[in-house]
Amino acid sequence: MNITNFSNSLKSAEIVEQACGLYEEAVRLRRMIHENPELGFEEYKTAEIIANYLKELGIEVTTEVAKTGVIGILHGEKEGPVLAFRADIDALPIQEKTDVNYKSKMPGVMHACGHDMHTAMLLAAAKVLSQNKHYLSGTIKFIFQPAEEMKGGGKMMIEEGVLSNPNVDHVFAFHVWPELPTGIYGFRNGEIMASMDSFDVVLKGKQGHGAAPHQGVDAIVGAAQVITALQTIVSREIDPVDSVVITIGTIEAGDGYNIIPEKASFKGTVRTLNANTRTEARQSIKRIIQGVASALKLEVDIKFNFSVGYPVTINDPKFNEHAAAIASDLFGENSVQWLNKPSMASEDFAFYLEKVPGTFVFLGVGENTEEPIKLHSDVFLPDEKAMIQGISLIVALAINTTQKIQ
Ligand SMILES: [Zn+2]
Ligand SMILES: [Zn+2]
Repeated sequence: MNITNFSNSLKSAEIVEQACGLYEEAVRLRRMIHENPELGFEEYKTAEIIANYLKELGIEVTTEVAKTGVIGILHGEKEGPVLAFRADIDALPIQEKTDVNYKSKMPGVMHACGHDMHTAMLLAAAKVLSQNKHYLSGTIKFIFQPAEEMKGGGKMMIEEGVLSNPNVDHVFAFHVWPELPTGIYGFRNGEIMASMDSFDVVLKGKQGHGAAPHQGVDAIVGAAQVITALQTIVSREIDPVDSVVITIGTIEAGDGYNIIPEKASFKGTVRTLNANTRTEARQSIKRIIQGVASALKLEVDIKFNFSVGYPVTINDPKFNEHAAAIASDLFGENSVQWLNKPSMASEDFAFYLEKVPGTFVFLGVGENTEEPIKLHSDVFLPDEKAMIQGISLIVALAINTTQKIQ
């Protein structure tokens, strides 16, 4: 895994210089995408911008993968592994409240998770690499994936063959991270983000007069008990040194002061850091809802949306350390920060990492890390300067990975 002294390769300083040379263009691209955000599986204009840009670079382009996804393929002049870099391209249903002059033109839709930056960085890196093909060994796949937010666009891309033809040896992706200072790379071996599953529950009792509860079956009292009991999974069932989060984010029932409603419904999410806990939590949730509800004479309809749930995002230590070594070669040891804990947020890049060894890296974009503006905030404003570190690492990884990392 010698990543320095590639006499026939691009030196780190040259890579950084080329990334800096494309910075203005990356900003222009990012702002164009930011102004025109599109929700998951509706990224038609975004996909067109991406496809046109790649075609102009002479990169082979496939469109309409997983509806609105785009894949670019660049062959190096020498033999080598197939590396895939993935950017997600979807925005969120949020009304932007920043006052930048490139704010969203789409009412109620905003790039509040930085996917506009992921896309711009990967496009700019594709440009640098297409101009340096003679240094490239193997093949680079540029994956522009729709619908990362809750809709599992990554899973669909894989089902449609993004990791084959040619078979991908390693995958890499960034997520901008406001808790880290601008340009700092956040690395972690093993799990870096949690699994995410969601569930919908409807409890059915018997409608009645608020003054005569004994004649009805109260769905609200039942829901309150069920929800409280669910937290005993976290505190009493799962190994305390393991992590699990159960959050009920929506509850709906009733319509008056003095009527016992027939139904109460709620929705929740469950996060874990390993596959066993994920299964265990799912079984416990089901058992507790059914058990408590039936003790209170309620009928239950539970729907687990496991089909759109995301697995735990787990980095391959070998490839991760290889990438960290390249990062520190680019911007010095201090640019690499090893994260001592994972995030309980989730990410559909996990689907790729289930199939192919690779790594997911946080890229610092926080100008004020004491009180960072969080992802999904309506005033989220990542520091664009981090795109230099982003572009540089993609290019350096592509050029320096001349064989599979095993
Ligand atoms: Zn997000
Ligand atoms: Zn995101």
